Amino acid sequence: QWIFRNGQFVDRDSATVSVFDHGLLYGDGIFEGIRAYSGNLFRLREHLLRLYASAKSILLEIPYSLDEMMEIVAGTVRRNLLNDAYIRLVVTRGMGDLGLDPKKCPTAEVIVIAEQLNMFAPELYTRGIEVICAATRRNRSDVLSPKVKSLNYLNNILVKLEAHAAGVNEALVLNSEGYVVEGSGENVFLVRDGVVYTPPTYLGALEGITRQAVLEIAQELHIETREEPFTRHDVYVADEIFLTGTAAEMVPVIKVDGRVIGSGLPGEVTRQLHRVFQERTKTDGYA
Ligand code: PLP
Repeated sequence: QWIFRNGQFVDRDSATVSVFDHGLLYGDGIFEGIRAYSGNLFRLREHLLRLYASAKSILLEIPYSLDEMMEIVAGTVRRNLLNDAYIRLVVTRGMGDLGLDPKKCPTAEVIVIAEQLNMFAPELYTRGIEVICAATRRNRSDVLSPKVKSLNYLNNILVKLEAHAAGVNEALVLNSEGYVVEGSGENVFLVRDGVVYTPPTYLGALEGITRQAVLEIAQELHIETREEPFTRHDVYVADEIFLTGTAAEMVPVIKVDGRVIGSGLPGEVTRQLHRVFQERTKTDGYA
C-alpha cells in the first residue's frame, strides 16, 4: 500500500508523522473522506472545495492548488491499483513545538491514504440498521463550526461510543435546542407521506456531499424535498429513515430508540433513491 505524504509516495510502514505534529498534539487540521467507484472519484471537486473551505476557515494554507490536489488523490488511487476505494485526505498544521501557536508550524502535512473500507456489514444495507438518539449534543456553531471537517472528532466518537453501549449500529445527534442534526458521521433523512426531509445544515450539520447528491436525485425523480428542522418525535413517526455519508453511503434505518420505523423494512423511497445513487456513483465525478 502506497501512501502519499508531502509530495512522495511512501509505503505503509514508513508513512509516519512526527510526535510534534500539531494534528496529533492539538487536533489542528482538517480531513476529507472520498470514495472511488469503478475508477470514478465521486464528486471529487465538491469534496476538495469543502476541504479548501475548511482550510480557509482555520487559516491553514494547503501547499497545493485544488487542481493539483485532484491529481494527487487520483494518483494515489492509481498507484494502489484500486478501482473501488475509500480515500482519506488529511492536512495538519504540521510540525511545531509543544506550544499551540500555529505560527511555529512552517509547513502543513498532507497525507492521502486509499484503501478498501466497508463501514457496515453488507447485509445491513438491505436489512437496515438500528440507531438511538445520543445524549451527546452536537458542537454548537458558535464554537468551532460543525461545517469545518476538522481533526477534532471526539464529540462524534462519543456519539459512536453511545451507540456501542446501547448495542446498536449508529446514533443520531441532537443540537442543544433538541432538533435532530445528523449521525456520528452521516447526514440524516426521513420520509413522511412521500416527502423527503433533511435538517438544514445551519442546525449544526456538516454540508454532506452525499446529502447534496441525494437531494438532487430526489428532485430529479420529482420527489418533494424539504430542508426543515425536525425533532425526535418526527423521527419516531417517520415512514422511512436513512443516513448518508461517504463512508456509510446510503443506509436505511429501521429502528430508533426501540421504535420500529414504518414496516420495519427499508422503505420504497429509500430503495428508489439508493438505486439511482448507486448508478450515479460510477459516473458523477472525476475519472
Ligand atoms: N456529518 C459528519 C459529521 C461527517 O463527518 C460526515 C462525513 O463526511 C458526514 C456528515 C457526511 O458527509 P459526506 O456525505 O460528505 O461524506
